[in-house]
Amino acid sequence: MMAPAAQRVVAIDGPAASGKSSVARELARKLGFVYVNSGAMYRAIAWFVLDRGTDFHDAAAVTRLVETARIECDLEGGESRIQIDGVDPASHLRDVRVNEAVSPVSSVPRVRELLGAQMRSYASSHDVVMEGRDIGSVVFPETPYKFYIDASPEVRAKRRAAQGHADQIAMRDQADSSRKTAPLMIAEDAHVIDSSQLSIEGVVGQIVERLRVQGWEAPPPRV
Ligand code: C5P
Repeated sequence: MMAPAAQRVVAIDGPAASGKSSVARELARKLGFVYVNSGAMYRAIAWFVLDRGTDFHDAAAVTRLVETARIECDLEGGESRIQIDGVDPASHLRDVRVNEAVSPVSSVPRVRELLGAQMRSYASSHDVVMEGRDIGSVVFPETPYKFYIDASPEVRAKRRAAQGHADQIAMRDQADSSRKTAPLMIAEDAHVIDSSQLSIEGVVGQIVERLRVQGWEAPPPRV
């Protein structure tokens, strides 16, 4: 049993291109919380696996590689940042080959353990808004503040295309939802928001309203 997070955690899960990154970043800004993008952490490991020429379908080889890697997570401008063996791969995280490798790499249990510990460590010293696939279900099951953001497949495909990324989101969703370890799912106590017809502000507004219903003070007026 994990010790409960010391600080407040708002968990935002959902499928690829559901709008959760933009929503989580804006919500964190509004609340004055740290923003943690767990997908970027998995993408960084996928980049590292590719960079080292390791077969990303070989779970044993990926496990061996990450055991020896120096994974350092800290904050930059109020947002999570990850460095592996001293390198910050931020500019590579949206590469097509990283899109292809990230689901297989993130299904490796040891990768999830290592990154899960880093995610929990953020919440030991900061209030956080954290987005991902299993934040409310596995990483912070104890937080009462869980949201699941969805959007129709058509809207999500359009959003990703508008960002100019080649990304097989349907394939990634299928892999992320069907894997054995920490699959994408709606936590039982999550509040589900369909963002298909909503702006980022609209979704953030619904979350803030829900937090109020759950007994939060109104967030400080940050503009
Ligand atoms: O959120 P984003 O689309 O950048 O995440 C990239 C990939 O990282 C996902 O498709 C999934 O395979 C993995 N991921 C995960 N668990 C999380 C966050 C992301 O497995 N909490």
